[in-house]
Amino acid sequence: MNQNLETLCIQAGYAPGNGEPRQIPIVQSTTFKYATSEDMGKLFDLEASGYFYSRLANPTCDAVAAKIAALEGGTAAMLTGSGQAASFYAIFNIAGCGDHVVASTAIYGGTYNLLAVTMKRMGVDVTFVDPDASEEELSRAFRENTKAMFGETIANPALNVLDIEKFARVAHAHGVPLIVDNTFATPVNCRPMEWGADIVTHSTTKYMDGHGAALGGVVVDSGKFDWTKYPDKFPGLCTPDESYHGVTYTQRFGLAGAFITKCTAQLMRDLGSVQSPQNAFYLNLGLESLPFRVRQHCANAQAIAEFLSTHPKVAWVKYCGLKGDKYYDLAQKYLPNGSCGVISFGLKGGRKAAESFMKHLQLGAIETHVADSRTCCLHPASTTHRQMTDGELEAAGVGADLIRLSCGLENTQDLIADLAQAIEKA
Ligand SMILES: *Cc1c(COP(=O)(O)O)cnc(C)c1O
Repeated sequence: MNQNLETLCIQAGYAPGNGEPRQIPIVQSTTFKYATSEDMGKLFDLEASGYFYSRLANPTCDAVAAKIAALEGGTAAMLTGSGQAASFYAIFNIAGCGDHVVASTAIYGGTYNLLAVTMKRMGVDVTFVDPDASEEELSRAFRENTKAMFGETIANPALNVLDIEKFARVAHAHGVPLIVDNTFATPVNCRPMEWGADIVTHSTTKYMDGHGAALGGVVVDSGKFDWTKYPDKFPGLCTPDESYHGVTYTQRFGLAGAFITKCTAQLMRDLGSVQSPQNAFYLNLGLESLPFRVRQHCANAQAIAEFLSTHPKVAWVKYCGLKGDKYYDLAQKYLPNGSCGVISFGLKGGRKAAESFMKHLQLGAIETHVADSRTCCLHPASTTHRQMTDGELEAAGVGADLIRLSCGLENTQDLIADLAQAIEKA
């Protein structure tokens, strides 16, 4: 039966048997017991599936991962301890020392550092590209050793909307998969795999959890990228893994299972950034109400963006749901039912007005967080980006006047009243 998203959010991933718990049990156990060494040996050779140590797999985490795979329309998924870990695992599963990736410049700052600093130190080279560039320009960034292309559905904090089909065409023309971070859109508003993305990642810390309760991430595979067409490019998936008695992931697990099995059996085994079963339980509670929460986040953001865009003291507003926004047309195509709850804007008084505005907010809290049920607000120039000069801020697309507002689930009119009084006093 083809189920709709609201149903999958409640039902997918866990089907209790007779007399079993209705809610996903928190399997708070590091290890699992076996009757014989032979039984356990089969697990170590990946010949049988089962649990033996929670760094490799845990039933609570697996159930929640299966739910997210269903939501994104993927074949398999793996939870990670954070969104950062999810981005790293998704890329490192196919790109190692001596390899290269192409990434959009419009991505989360943490992902930018991961690629530009830490993965570079590991020998993975990156070329950043303007996501709005033509296919010809994007193509020029590719090299012989390029293994993946990376972008964000809606960029945090730049709020660019990614032309996913364009990126997928370019990636596939060069024989590499497209990885999309779908954190801001969530599968409620966009399922990148339907537009050609091969792998999707999330910081589940954001809308999926949605209550500011649990850090987490997830990697989802579409099962559609045919690694076996490029065995020389993806030897990790197409040739034997000696650390698993010579298993070849694409042969043993097929295209549907190869990527995530390797990611789990090899990378999670060796690097261990697991999500705790307790956090997975919280994440699952968030997922149950995700469609309803996302709709309210978007409705609040739309109303607030419209309020700000007509306010005489507001210099500019960036929100792809606003007619006239640079990304309005792309948003209509990829996010027809809503985009996200995050807006950025500037006041006519620039940096000074922004600082004063922040002091007068009553409902909106000052936090370096987004996508929470509580409205929160950030002035990067005086906090996260305070080491940068005004010129550097401008170049980074985070002007000195920029205020990032993450619209929560509170009543729309209450939020607008709070913004109105803070703007008046600024
Ligand atoms: C927050 C965020 C991340 C990093 O996630 P953490 O859970 O904080 O590690 C990655 N991508 C996007 C788009 C984010 O907003």
